[in-house]
Amino acid sequence: MAGSQTPIVGVLALQGDFREHIAVLQSLGADARAIRRPEELALVGGLVIPGGESSVMDKLSRMFGLADPLKDAIRAGLPVYGTCAGLIMLADRVLDAIAGQQSLGGFDISVRRNAFGSQRDSFETDLSIPVLGDPPVNAVFIRAPVVERVGESVVALATLEDGRVVAVEQGNLLGTSFHPEMTGDTRFHEYFLDRVRGVR
Ligand code: GLN
Repeated sequence: MAGSQTPIVGVLALQGDFREHIAVLQSLGADARAIRRPEELALVGGLVIPGGESSVMDKLSRMFGLADPLKDAIRAGLPVYGTCAGLIMLADRVLDAIAGQQSLGGFDISVRRNAFGSQRDSFETDLSIPVLGDPPVNAVFIRAPVVERVGESVVALATLEDGRVVAVEQGNLLGTSFHPEMTGDTRFHEYFLDRVRGVR
């Protein structure tokens, strides 16, 4: 789809806050649609996997026959952006997963689920993200994962003050531990749409 004027951007809509992503993408002029079936996935030029609960999203994706088509699309180079649970879905290795939980993989990273524990379940912080420029991004974390290990081909786009990685990029894949769809700051979605349109 790269190169076409208005590629369809899918948002995986099995569970989680897919409506917020669709709203942001549409506000940026994208043809954004909810994706629940393999036939719908086949039409998209890019895909967002939203936040929610990764173990539930994993089960539903397998139940609805989407897990294998999603894996194939990721490996074929489809631009995919995962936020929070979506980032967990994209990780090759998931730490603190529930028994039997699988991920789609693709990102050569290890992520730890619920990495901030119950003491600091949800919080906001300003992150300096060089690829997005000024001002810093106000990042909202909700029972968020962190990236504990990154492979050689992975670029860390953002880190917390303690050095833990919370935004990553690897080829066609983009991921954030936090939720840009909730803050009104559309720069991550714009960055992703540029990749879908083949600008970046
Ligand atoms: N803790 C959730 C999980 O493990 C992710 C939370 C979120 O997406 N906000 O999937």
